[in-house]
Amino acid sequence: MATKNKFRTEIEDLIEAGNLRGLLNKAGELHGHHCNYLAYGVIAGLYGIRKLGVSNTGMEEVIAIVETNNCFSDGIQMVTGCSFGNNSLIYRDYGKTAATLAKRDGKAIRLVLNPEFEDSREKEYPEAYKMFDKLVVRREEGSPEDYVKLMTLFAEISAKELNTPVEKMFLIEEKEIEIPDFAPVFESVKCAKCGENVMKSRVAERNGQYYCLPCARETFFELNGSGILQQKCS
Ligand SMILES: [Zn+2]
Ligand SMILES: [Zn+2]
Repeated sequence: MATKNKFRTEIEDLIEAGNLRGLLNKAGELHGHHCNYLAYGVIAGLYGIRKLGVSNTGMEEVIAIVETNNCFSDGIQMVTGCSFGNNSLIYRDYGKTAATLAKRDGKAIRLVLNPEFEDSREKEYPEAYKMFDKLVVRREEGSPEDYVKLMTLFAEISAKELNTPVEKMFLIEEKEIEIPDFAPVFESVKCAKCGENVMKSRVAERNGQYYCLPCARETFFELNGSGILQQKCS
């Protein structure tokens, strides 16, 4: 690994040691619970970052392209250090549990959860999947004990999944990709109506004046639990 980043020493030490359990614990701090998809993100993140041999200082020296906004993406973010805030997390709304990690020279690794492996999980952990379906998918009312049980089961599963070899869990492809340019820094302008500062790339211009999208009642894109959707300011 390149010189260690003093702001991420704990994570970089875990990466160097290949300590998946420790990385899962760190990812849990961001994600709020332990679950198997978080573990998959941690495993993919560790594999990719070690293979690329790069230390992330949040200056876009490594980028992660994630193809889903499920639990997996939090594992990727925590381990790789690629986030929305440092512009090194790119989101492609494909709905696949997959991520591509890349260095600025274009050297990249894409990992997608092996469909066979993924499809076999429900059989492996029937109790947990049944509870998940009831409490999360169908949003049926459960007792407080049910929710504790669900969390406990998924934490146990995530710990077990760490023992699965990465090659069995993912289809892995090393490739060269075109790296996007460094994120541009946009000038800020004041909205003529609300007075808030807005990135110039996100204003509507009316009669020579700048308005933020809500004040201009414009459409915008929102990433939410359903993916990226175009919304209209109300
Ligand atoms: Zn989760
Ligand atoms: Zn405004």
